[in-house]
Order: sequence, then C-alpha cells, then structure tokens
Amino acid sequence: MLKRFYHAFQPRKISRDSFEILPSHELLQHLGFLRQTQSGLVNWLPIGLRSLNKIENIVRNRMNDEGHAMEVQLSTLSPKGLWETTGRWSNTELFKLRDARKAEFCLTPTCEEDITNLMKNYISTYKDMPLLVYQITKKYRDELRPRAGLLRGREFLMKDAYSFTGNREDALKMFDQMNAVYSQIFTDLGIPFVSAWADSGDIGGDLSKEYHYVHPSGEDTLLTCNNCGTSSNIEKCESFPQEMNTHLGDVNVKYTLNKAHDTLICFYYPKDRQLNWNLAMEAAEHDVDGSMRYMGEDEVLKIFQESNEDLLFSRVLRIMDCRLSSRSNFPDFPLRQYLKSNFGQIDDVSLVEAHEGEICGICNEGLLKANKTIEVGHTFHLGTKYSEALAAQFTDRDNKISAIEMGCYGIGVSRLLGAIGEITRDKQGFRWPSKIAPYRVSICVAPGNNEIKQRIKQEIQETMGNEIMDKFNEKLGLGARISYSHAIGIPLCIIAGPKNWPNVEIEVRGKNWLNDNIPTWREAHKKLH
Ligand code: ATP
Ligand code: MG
Ligand code: MG
Ligand code: MG
Repeated sequence: MLKRFYHAFQPRKISRDSFEILPSHELLQHLGFLRQTQSGLVNWLPIGLRSLNKIENIVRNRMNDEGHAMEVQLSTLSPKGLWETTGRWSNTELFKLRDARKAEFCLTPTCEEDITNLMKNYISTYKDMPLLVYQITKKYRDELRPRAGLLRGREFLMKDAYSFTGNREDALKMFDQMNAVYSQIFTDLGIPFVSAWADSGDIGGDLSKEYHYVHPSGEDTLLTCNNCGTSSNIEKCESFPQEMNTHLGDVNVKYTLNKAHDTLICFYYPKDRQLNWNLAMEAAEHDVDGSMRYMGEDEVLKIFQESNEDLLFSRVLRIMDCRLSSRSNFPDFPLRQYLKSNFGQIDDVSLVEAHEGEICGICNEGLLKANKTIEVGHTFHLGTKYSEALAAQFTDRDNKISAIEMGCYGIGVSRLLGAIGEITRDKQGFRWPSKIAPYRVSICVAPGNNEIKQRIKQEIQETMGNEIMDKFNEKLGLGARISYSHAIGIPLCIIAGPKNWPNVEIEVRGKNWLNDNIPTWREAHKKLH
C-alpha cells in the first residue's frame, strides 16, 4: 500500500505569554480551532470541528435515547409566505434574499414555520401523535451586536426540536419530558448549569424554561432564591403577589394566595361593586373541598349573565393542581406566569418586577440574588400559535377538528463550545471536559522519532481509537508540542524523549474538571501497560 504523508493542517500562533490575556474567541483562533471571517461568522478548522462534533453528538445521543426523538434536516431557505402568515417576516434579525425569479426567502433563524408546514402533511388524527422531531443545523440571525465569535454568531449551530400533541395535557407532559432530557444533556456536558423560568419572547407560547451557565461574561441576568433555589430570568421574575386582580369582561376576578393552606382562592364579582369580604371568605370556606376544575372564560361569563348576586361564586384552587402535574415534581412552578396565561390579562398595576435582595415570589421566604449568565438552551410550550396560523389541524377523539398543540426546544451547540471554553480555561490555555476535548490523548515525541511514536500508538490504539493526536507540525520541537497539546486542552499527554525511551511520561492536563473522569496519572499509566 502506498504510504501517504500529509502535513498536519494545524494552523496556530503559539506564544504562551499571551494565553492569559487573550479573550477566548481570540485564543480559539490563535490555537487553530476556527477562524473568524466577518463579525459573527467563522470557518471551523479541524480541532475546533472535532470538539463541536462531540458536543453535537452528546446532544444527539440524548435526544435519540432519552427523548425518543427522530432526526430530520430542513432546508435552510424558507419562503417569505410562511413567515408572513405567522407575522414574523418583519423580524429585523432575518437574513432575506431573492431568487432569480424575484421570489423572497429568509435563511432560517429557527424553524417553527417550516416544521409546522411540513408535519401538517403527516398528522391528520389524534392517533398520529405525539410526535417529536429535531435537527442540528446552522441557523442565521442578523444579530445587532454579534459577540465573541461563537457566543452571539450571525451563523451558528443549533439543535432545535419540535413536538406535536393532540391536547394541552399531552403538550405539557412533553414539555416536562423534554426538560428532563435537557437536564441529562447539560449534566453530560459536565459544566454546572441553572434552569430558570423565562420569557417566551418572539417565539411565542406561554410556558418556557431557559438553561444557563453562570459566568460574569454573560449577557443575561438570573434571579435565584437563596431558600427554595428557584431561578428566573430577570425579564420574567416577579415578586410574590399577595393578591392579583383581573377581569373577564364585566366580571372582576380576584386571586388571593393562602400560603398556610397552600391554596389559591379565586373570587368572581360584578365589576361595579366592591368585593364583600366576609361573604367571600364564607363562600371560600364552603368551597374548600369543591371542584378543582377551572372555569373557562365563556363558562364564567355565562354564569354571571344568569345571576344577579353580589358575589357570584368563589373557587378554591389548590396550588398543586395549578398545573396538570403535581407540585412536588415542579417545586419551582411559576404560579404567577401560569395564572397570567390561563386566566387572562392581570391588571398591570398589580405586576411587580423583582430585583436583587427582594423576597422570592415562589416560597415567599428567601431573598433573590442576581447572577450574570450565558443562555445555552431554551424550551417552550407553544400552544397553537403556529398550528393555527398555518392550519395544522387534526381530528380528535370526538371527531372534532382542532389545531395541533406544539412545543419547541433549542440548544445553542456552537455557543456551548464558546461558553465552555471561556468558563474552563486556565493559564495554560483551554481545559475542556475530556468528553469534548478535540482528542483525549496526544503523543509528544521529538521531531523525527517516528518509530517511538508508532510503538506507543500501537499500545494505546485499542483503548483510545481515533482519540489519539500524534500529528504535529514538523517544525515544533518536543517542548512546543507538549505546550500545544496542553493549550488545546488534550487531557492526557504521553511524552517520550529519545533518551528515556522505552520509559514514557504521562502528563495529565490541569486539575480534573469537576466530575470529569480524566484518569489520574497512575490509572493512565496502568492503561498503557
Ligand atoms: P439570546 O437571548 O442570547 O439572543 P435567544 O433567546 O434569542 O438567545 P433562542 O431563540 O431561545 O435564542 O434560541 C435557542 C438557543 O440558541 C439559545 O438558547 C442559544 O443557546 C442559541 N442561540 C441563540 N442565538 C444565538 C446566536 N446568535 N449565536 C449562537 N447561539 C445562539
Ligand atoms: Mg436572540
Ligand atoms: Mg434569550
Ligand atoms: Mg431564548
């Protein structure tokens, strides 16, 4: 067989002194992970691509194995018509372009429109659902302020999943299951993370969670309670509401939270009267063991029209039943958010934005602390926003035609690489968790000692497979190879000088990163022999 020799394509600029002061996105370029071409755009180089693929596969494996999701890949070009239908064509982050026939398209920044338009062809009855599909593809957003190469790119790699269910109950179950899968994915990645209640923003829907890394370089702020541990994005977090006032047409609605009994009391009374408090409390007592069912808006209005009483009725709702799942599974359930989405517009007057140092709105005991964070994932219960706009309907059990309930779930794969690099780096360079280091082990021999290198390689081939980095730029001496291996964050470095051969030295790069299972020196040595 013809033996081929290629140069290692290993562009790098090594100057150890600068490692500490270079910002991560420059260090990534310096060491040859990637190259930025324009603000927010990068070319991926071999070692960067290896790490990116590893993160991608951690996400993919969990989506397949635990999420039972099926992978698809949608076109990046999406026709204007779809985005006009859902009202998102005017989004200023869209990259827009025209074909030769002057038809307009955008480069997909996320794919709710396209996936809904695709899946509606395959879903006709409730028997076709639940369905869960995902893709890991480049997304495009014309960000106003692209930042730090990967953290806010204009082209970036995102995993986006979409769920389709036949009713709200199943949709919420799916939302919970996907959040469980997210916890596994972020645990796999090995960096401590925080999940937080969040705002749905432009994507829409009424229930949403974000996943964050706490780091001073982050652009988001989370408020976390020092008692119950609940975190919320500051955009979403509100202080504990003792009571809330809202209305349904001519009916006033007052919610009062009774913490002692873990109940929420809800009073309905005519808009032009004051609430008769004694009467209300009496009615509430009476109703404690009453129905847990929620009244829909129509139902309440109908009862109101048929009655002239001062206090129409009261409802005692157990907080644990405020959602279809039990409270013990969701200790951080955002009551206020739920009420807002289920019981209509709450008077603006009663909305309180929370700040650091205030009492937590969930447990009403702890204090809120603010942290800067990097958003790395986001899950949304969408409801029927996209299915209604794009007429994605199905026939339910009672032969009724309804809009499909949807959810969507994103992870910023390339942002993860930028964020993890930034969080874990030290003065020697990057110090990736070993699962996402470009290689797990390097073989550093002095230039020309190829035979020694081959002997070592043969010994570790079986356990390390294609995780061995043995090609270095021929111009690098032994010392430079070792520091390059450390700088790009390879956990194990096998060093063999011609003098001490056949003894080798194994260096473990840096301290073990948290619960990472980089073998200790001794274990590594055992593995070799
Ligand atoms: P941000 O608040 O940082 O602008 P977003 O809330 O607009 O992000 P989502 O629409 O929730 O982002 O997208 C899902 C995930 O995609 C985010 O959680 C994030 O990890 C990633 N992401 C979003 N925008 C970018 C970007 N410009 N560059 C890299 N990753 C991104
Ligand atoms: Mg954004
Ligand atoms: Mg965000
Ligand atoms: Mg988001």
